[in-house]
This record gives sequence, C-alpha cells and structure tokens, in this order.
Amino acid sequence: MSRFQVRKVAVLGAGVMGAQIAAHLVNVKVPVVLFDLPAKEGPKNGIVTKAVEGLKKLKPAPLGVPENAALIQQANYEEHLELLKDCDLIIEAIAERMDWKLDLYTKIAPFVAPHAIVASNTSGLSITKLSEVLPEAIKPRFCGIHFFNPPRYMYLVELINTPTTRPEVIDQLESFVTTAVGKGVVRANDTPNFVANRVGIAGMMATMIEAEKFGLSVDVVDDLTGKKLGRASSGTFRTADVVGLDTMAHVVKTMQDNLKDDPFYSTYATPKVLAGLIEKGALGQKSGAGFYKKVGKDIQRLDFATGEYVAGGKKADEIVARMLKKPAADRIKLLRESTNPQAQFLWSILRDGFHYAAVHLNTVADTAREIDFAMRWGFGTSQGPFELWQAAGWKQVAEWISADIADGKTLSSAPLPAWVTEGPVAENGGVHSKEGSWSAAEGKFKPRAKLPVYERQAFPESLVGEGAVEPLKAGTEEFKNDEVRVWTLDGEVLIASITAKLHLISPTVTEGLLKAVEIAEAKYKGLVIWSPDDVFSAGANLEALMPVFMSKGSKGIAPEEKKLQDAMLSIRYANVPVVAAMRGLALGGGCELAVHCARRVAHMESYVGLVEVGVGLIPGAGGLTYIARRAAEMANAGNAAADIFAFLKDGFTTAATAKVATSALEARKNGFLLDSDIIVANKDELLHIATAQAKGLYESGYRAPQKALFPVAGRSGIATIKGQLANMRDGGFISQHDFHLAALIADVVCGGEVEAGSLVDEEYLMSLERKHFCSLLDHPKTQERIMGMLQTGKPVRN
Ligand code: NAD
Repeated sequence: MSRFQVRKVAVLGAGVMGAQIAAHLVNVKVPVVLFDLPAKEGPKNGIVTKAVEGLKKLKPAPLGVPENAALIQQANYEEHLELLKDCDLIIEAIAERMDWKLDLYTKIAPFVAPHAIVASNTSGLSITKLSEVLPEAIKPRFCGIHFFNPPRYMYLVELINTPTTRPEVIDQLESFVTTAVGKGVVRANDTPNFVANRVGIAGMMATMIEAEKFGLSVDVVDDLTGKKLGRASSGTFRTADVVGLDTMAHVVKTMQDNLKDDPFYSTYATPKVLAGLIEKGALGQKSGAGFYKKVGKDIQRLDFATGEYVAGGKKADEIVARMLKKPAADRIKLLRESTNPQAQFLWSILRDGFHYAAVHLNTVADTAREIDFAMRWGFGTSQGPFELWQAAGWKQVAEWISADIADGKTLSSAPLPAWVTEGPVAENGGVHSKEGSWSAAEGKFKPRAKLPVYERQAFPESLVGEGAVEPLKAGTEEFKNDEVRVWTLDGEVLIASITAKLHLISPTVTEGLLKAVEIAEAKYKGLVIWSPDDVFSAGANLEALMPVFMSKGSKGIAPEEKKLQDAMLSIRYANVPVVAAMRGLALGGGCELAVHCARRVAHMESYVGLVEVGVGLIPGAGGLTYIARRAAEMANAGNAAADIFAFLKDGFTTAATAKVATSALEARKNGFLLDSDIIVANKDELLHIATAQAKGLYESGYRAPQKALFPVAGRSGIATIKGQLANMRDGGFISQHDFHLAALIADVVCGGEVEAGSLVDEEYLMSLERKHFCSLLDHPKTQERIMGMLQTGKPVRN
C-alpha cells in the first residue's frame, strides 16, 4: 500500500465547525479549500468570505495568526465543484440535516477523486445511513470524522466507520489526523452521538437529575463538578451554557429519537428548566443568559424554584472539598458514606457514570479505552469513568453500584453486565491491563492500535492499569538534582527534563542544564530539553533569588545573573546541538533558554514571550542580547547595507510590551522561532521530533556557531526609540516606570551609547542587561511589581 498523501483538503460548510476546521488545517500547513452555498446576492463566495473574515475575530482564536485566513481558498458549489478533484480528503460540515447532506453528496459525487476520502463531521446522524446514497465507488472511502468545538483546542477527533468503509481507509485517516492535524483519535461505533457526546451528555443529564434530587444550586454543582472533581473547570451547567443550550438539547433529542430501548431512556427526557430556558431564548453564553446571566460585572445564577436570576458564586462545602483531595479509593468511600448532601450527590453522579459506561460499553465502542480517552479529550476530565473506577478499587465499587441498583437508587434498574463481576475484568481488577483494554463486545482485552504513526509517540497518554512507564522514570538516568532529570531513552540523545514547578529556572535548574550540556558533549549526539507536561518554562525563579537579595542586595544578584547568562552561552556554544522541545508556556527566562538553543521544536500551542516588564524588570538572561544579534543577522542577510534599526523595532516592541505569542506561528512572527525551527501539530510527537532534529543536526556535522562581533544601532537608535516613548508617556499611554523600563530595553538592544554600526559581542550586551536588571531591583516601583506578583500572581500597574 502506498502512502496516503494529503496535498489538499476540501471542507464543505463554512459554519461554526467547517470554518474553524479549515482554520486549523491552515495552522498545521495543510492546504484547504472551504466551500459553502453560493450567496444569493453579491459575489457568489459571499457566505464563505464572511465566515473567513469571522475567523479573525473569533475567541478563542481558531487561527495561529489571523493573516493566515488568506490561505483558506474560498469556493461555492455553483462555480467551483471542479476544485474537489484535487482534494485527497473531503470533510463535510454542513447543517445537521440528513436530507441536505444527502443532496450535497449526490451533487459532489462526480467530482470526488478516485482515491479521495470523504468524511462527515455530523454529531448525531448515522454515518451508515449517510453512506447509503453514495455511489458504490465512494462508499469504501466514506466515514465519520467528528471534531469537537473549538477544533483547534479540543484534542479529540472521533472516527466512525460504516460496514462498507475499507479498513485501510480509516487507518490512513487516523494517521493523518494524529500526526498532521495533531489530534487524539478515538474510534467510535456508529451509534447515536458516538462516544464522547453519548457518555458525556448522558452524564450531564444525570448530574441535572441528581442535583435536583439533592436540592443543589447550579453554582454549587459547578464548583463540585469542576476542577475539584478532576473535570473541566466550567463544571456542568456552565459547560452547558458555553456549548449552547440549543446544541445540548439537539444532542439530547438524538438520544430521545434513537434510543428508545436504552435502559437509561427515561434520563434523556429534556429537563423542564432546560426546556424553559430554550423557550425563552436563553441559550447560554451566546445569548447572554442560560443557567447563568452576566449582569454588569456579576454572574448571577438561575434559581430553579423561582426561575429568576439571583446572586451566585456559592462554593462547595469545605468538608466535601477536602474529601475530593484524597486518593481515589478513600475519596469514593468517603463520599458514599457521608451524610452531607453534596457528598451524596457526588457519589451518585460518579456511580451513575460508572453504571452508564458499563452498560453501554458493548455497543458504543470497541474497548473501554475509547470511552476513557473520549471523556478526557472531549470533555476535559483528568480521568475517564473506567479508569477512575479501576483506581478506586474495581470490585468494591462494583458491589456498591449493585447495592444501589438493588435499593432502587440508580437512574436505571439495568444490572451491571456480568463481565464486571466475573471473569478476566474482575480478576484483573478493572478494564485496563497490560494486555490491553476490555472489549465487552468481544469478551477480551485488546491492545492499542499498532499503526506506525504511534511509533512517533514515545510516551502516549496512558490509562490507569495499563502499566505504562512514566517518562520521568523511564530510560537511563545520567544525572539528577532536585529540579532537573538528565536521562536518555536511546543512548544517542540526552534529555534534560526540568521538574521544578512551572519549570521555573532557579540556580538548581541552571546547574542541572549545565551538567546536561557537559554530559552530552562527552557522550551523546545532542541534548533535548523536554518535559512530559505542558509547560516548557514559565520563567526565572525570582523567589529562589530572594535570600541572596535579602542578604547582599542587588549587588549579590549580579553574579547569579551572570551565571545564568553564562549558562545560556554554554548552551548556544555547546559542541553538540541543544534542541528546545517547547510546549505551553515559554516565558521570560524560558523564552531566553529556548532562543539560545541550536534549534526549537515547538508544539503549535506554545505561548512564548519576554514578559519581564510585567514584574518591573527587563529580560536579563540574554533575551535582549538575542534581539540585538538577530537584528544584525537579519540586516546582514543577503544585503550587508540594510538598516539594523528596521529589524530592531519589532524585537524592541515585543520585549517592551511583554507581548506573548498565542501560538508557535505567532512566536515565529515575533522572532522567537526561526524559519528553520519546527512546529509540531501533535503534543505527543514533540520528543520524537526533537530527538530526530538533534540527531539530524549531529549527523550533518554540527558545529556550534562561531563567536562573532556584530553591529548595533547605537545612540541614534536609542534616541529614536526614546523620542517615541516620550510621546507615549506624555500622552498618558504609559507610566513613568514603563518609560524607564522601555528606555533601558532600548539601551541594551541598541548596544548602549556607541556610534551606530559599532561592533559588539554578546558578553558586552549581557553586561548591559545585568547593569540595568540590577539597578531595577533597587527601584521601589519594580519592588512593588515583584511583591505584587509573588503575593497575588497578578501584574501590578504602576
Ligand atoms: P452551522 O449552522 O454553523 O453551519 C452550517 C453550514 O451549512 C452553514 O455554513 C450553511 O451555509 C451550510 N448549509 C446550510 N444548508 C445547506 C445545504 N442545504 N447545503 C449545503 N450547505 C448548507 O453548523 P455547525 O455547527 O458548523 O455544524 C456543522 C456540522 O458539524 C453538523 O453536522 C453538526 O452536527 C456538526 N458538529 C457541530 C459541532 C458544534 O459544536 N457546532 C460540533 C461537532 C460537530
């Protein structure tokens, strides 16, 4: 079988989902053509054009950088069906109507390339029924591809085959969606609402029923069912408001219409409050009111008894919150035994969730793994229902559920399936084992998919009971201190994992990184700075420097700062390539660390910037030196006479305004990633790709950059910037302290009071960084900003 190549994707339907799916494809460099109906008036592409324009304003941003909207090719069904012939994948995302979708399939069928995959993003229609109108030639290449909203940020994509889908087609699609689109694929059976919405929305319905039973208000329920329970912070009712109550009702209706024989059928009845809100047009966030209503700055909650909005913000009882901090087994036992209604409520919804998942496993998915991952990735829970049950003690919890069924306390009287209490699952103590996860339909544990694409994930997300090795315990350890683990997985590339909270860079971290460089130079092909969690480094650890500052003042900090700057230079000039594997925050010192590496491999969701001015400081670990050097390099590229200042302006502004890039694409635009750096779609491929880059650089005969002098903009550059800053200060746009900070930044990036074009080296610029950084530590306004940040975590404006 030759490789399935996706040169171009067509997305049909430029609505909420279609437009955002197209945007995300552009984010990951997949060419895309977006179709919609021809506009009745004006240009025929009018509907699509409006949708594409809308992408630039939508929050959270579907595009990595708004200007990439221009990369989406616009089309309509009247003029451009021919364009479909060049597409390897066609994703249909039009309105949720069987008849409209069938019409469209008939219309496009003659234009579908003979190898192309056609997939529907439907949430609730049967994929098999949709496939029935297709010509025989297309049927084997048709399946469901269910993205979640917002598609850029939601990790889950469900793939659904029909009886006629060719198995390799869905394997090809899974590989593409995983590696190129960066998603977590779950295979779902073609049952109503597939896996995540089926289990997730049934869970929300159960929560609403139990909340009423225990007389709890929406704010308390949300506090109980949010972060404290290991679920999405918006809890239950707020999540419903965000999703849209009409959308939720739509999903519920699919269950009402199609699941008449389901033992939980009675729980799918639309709750009266929900129906009442929808009737009033209170559809949640998009209409300004739902279970909550924003009144001025306050968020009011719906009072079920009166139907009025009243003051909200009530939290869970402290005693229940404390129970939720216990390990799974104790937690569930305490909740079940407590007489507190909130604890009883929580036991009830967890039990309902376990009960539901067990009863439906044989129909909705191949194995329990699909249900757990669907809930993690589609509903933002830290654990799926089966793994929580397994972690809490399978047998004991099963007994409790059965007892509640016998006592008539459960939402359905359906007994737990026999496989729960007898045979391999009971013996294993749960559905996940080293052999694989339980398939209720086949009565055996089934291993994960063996697609080659998963070999790119050294540490895929794992489930309780699978016995996966934790990354920070894996491989061979070369060195370890309290905040860095230096290890190798393959004996060729060394890995440095920062383990400190938020991976803040303290002297201990610096020591660990330097040790890693030393070991890598002696024995390895390269060094990768990677950690298994979703932060690269949130910056320098200011608190760690407090004792030195207290005893020796700012003078004591200068040598500490120099050590950090020297470490950055050691990384830059190491004899082996050092690769930063970035994901999540790379702020301040974290950003400075990344820019000193030979190469950056950044996950699309990387948030990068020099944010020091927020705490009244300036970047002091080589960040400004980097900006000056890059400006000189860019001015020199291909045209030695270009004006350094033109290149400097953007770098200066980025640092002076503490601008944080909201994607790796924007980080590249802001100058912190280079064109040669790699942007990665799937978070779980980061280590693989970074390691490959380190090896590739080594095999290509890597030599560290040569230390060289470079020209700076000098005093004329400083004067120009300061002139503009003075206008901003005098116009009241920035404070005096902002002015002071920006002027110091200007001084460093322009190389101080020297003639324009003077040649300097990095050490000289770093000494300027140090001088200004330390002077700021003695400044009362800076001290106010630092203390404010340490105490409240929020920036102080002064
Ligand atoms: P939407 O209403 O925002 O957009 C639907 C698009 O379909 C519009 O651009 C419209 O012009 C077009 N359209 C309408 N009638 C048409 C017809 N007869 N022929 C061709 N095009 C037509 O819808 P949406 O929320 O983007 O949903 C699209 C699909 O994605 C649906 O199948 C839905 O179930 C599914 N889905 C939605 C979400 C969500 O949260 N909104 C999530 C996952 C999947």
